[in-house]
Amino acid sequence: GVMIEVENLTRRYGAYAAVDDVSFSVRPGTVTGFLGPNGAGKSTCMRMICGLTPPTSGVATVLGKPYAALGNPGRQVGVLLDASAQHNGRTGREILTLGAIMMGLDRRRVDEMLELVGLTRTESRRRLRNYSLGMRQRLGIAHALLGDPRVLILDEPANGLDPAGIRWMRSLLRGFADEGGTVLLSSHLLHEIEVVADDLVVIGRGKIVASGSKAELMSAA
Ligand code: ADP
Ligand code: ADP
Repeated sequence: GVMIEVENLTRRYGAYAAVDDVSFSVRPGTVTGFLGPNGAGKSTCMRMICGLTPPTSGVATVLGKPYAALGNPGRQVGVLLDASAQHNGRTGREILTLGAIMMGLDRRRVDEMLELVGLTRTESRRRLRNYSLGMRQRLGIAHALLGDPRVLILDEPANGLDPAGIRWMRSLLRGFADEGGTVLLSSHLLHEIEVVADDLVVIGRGKIVASGSKAELMSAA
C-alpha cells in the first residue's frame, strides 16, 4: 500500500519549472521527511498533492485518489500549508469550530484539539492576526488533526516553533505514525526532520536529488 503517490509531477511558472518531473511515494505508518532549501519546490509540490495548485503535468494521489475526489477530505487527510494563507480576522476557536462543522464533528473535539496543541482558552479567542507564528503553527496542527485523519501533510510546521515546541511536535508526529498514521513533513533543515523521519525525499531546484529510507541515505552520505 502507498498512502501518497506523486508521479511525474511538473509545475511551470512561465519558463521556470518550480517542480520538474517529481515522483515519489509515501509508505503507510511512516514519517517521510520532504527536505530541500527555500525555493526548492516543496510547497508547490504539497499544494499540488492537496489539489490547491493545478499541475502543468503529472498526477498526485492520496489514499489512491486525487485529493479533490476524497469524500470529506478533512476526515482522511489533515493538511497544514503556508501559515500566511490563513484567515486573519477569525479567532483560532472560530477556525477550528468551522472545520468541525464542515467535517460533521462533535464541537467538543475543538476543545480537545486546543488542549492537545497547548493553546489556552484566552489564546483561542484572539484573532489570528494577533498570533505569533508558533501559535499559528499550533493552531494549524490542531486544524490538521481535527478530523482524526489517517494522513498528515504538513508544510514547514516547525517554522516559528521554539525548541520545546519542535520537540513536542516531533513526538506528536512519531506517536501518530507509530499508531499507523502516515506523515509527509517538509523542512529546509535536515536536523529538524532527521530524528523523526523514517524516509527522506530530498528536492533541489524542482528536482528530486535523493530518496529512500533514512538508514540508506545516511549510510550513503
Ligand atoms: P519551497 O516550498 O521549497 O520553499 P516553493 O514551492 O515555494 O519552494 O517555490 C518553488 C519555486 O517556485 C520558487 O522559485 C518560487 O519563487 C516559485 N513559485 C512558487 N509559487 C509561485 C507563483 N505562484 N508564481 C511564480 N513563481 C512561484
Ligand atoms: P475553506 O475551503 O473554506 O478554506 P478549509 O477547511 O480549508 O475550508 O478551512 C476552514 C477554515 O480553516 C478557514 O478559515 C481556513 O482559513 C482555516 N484553516 C485552514 N487550514 C488552516 C491551518 N492550517 N491553520 C489555520 N487555519 C486554517
